[in-house]
Amino acid sequence: MSIFRRYIFNPIRDFIYPPVCFICNQVLSDSQSRVCFSCWNNFTPVNSNHPTWLELKSKFDAESIVKDILSCYLFEKEGKLQEVIHLLKYRGVKSVGIMLGEDIGRKISVNNLFAGADYLIPVPLHKLKQRERGYNQSEFICKGISKITDIPINTTVVNRTKYTQSQTQLNLVERKENVGDAFKINEKVRHLVQGKTFLIVDDVITTGATINSCAKELLAAGASSILVASAALAQ
Ligand SMILES: [Zn+2]
Repeated sequence: MSIFRRYIFNPIRDFIYPPVCFICNQVLSDSQSRVCFSCWNNFTPVNSNHPTWLELKSKFDAESIVKDILSCYLFEKEGKLQEVIHLLKYRGVKSVGIMLGEDIGRKISVNNLFAGADYLIPVPLHKLKQRERGYNQSEFICKGISKITDIPINTTVVNRTKYTQSQTQLNLVERKENVGDAFKINEKVRHLVQGKTFLIVDDVITTGATINSCAKELLAAGASSILVASAALAQ
């Protein structure tokens, strides 16, 4: 940022148009960015005794691919978190992804299993989808996690090779078929996978089918274990 921008342009702009919360339009204080504390604190927290977490955990356990999951919030229809995820995915407000990642990072730093992961992997988007959106939203969540935990991000080891249709209109069986064989290990960096623990990061997890499909490829390529973290779990 130029000195002109930082010390002259931005303060004048902020005086005329004070930054407001993207969700509730309240004027933000200097320590707040994009979303006010009151909206952010309104998200429903999720921990490992929440029914939605337990249900997803038992789904993952049944497949024996993912070792453990960690999530911060419940994704509720019409809730404030849904608006935040919408800003991140469809309106280009990447900084809220970093903020969500920081929340995940704080939970990881007090969890020995997760803190020991070797790499963060944002769930890859197909290159056409990524070109369409301009970025991978999960990568910004990873940036927030990495800021807190220092776990490096790896975006090259696994690619999404199948352009899958949106999962939202599909039932569970259809979802599994839709994402089956959707991911491939990048042969050029296959050697990086051997013996490593990967933490796959997603914005919202619904059935876990996409994650399982990605995790399966990493295990088949010699990964030692797969952990999963998300900003939210959908009911
Ligand atoms: Zn607000």
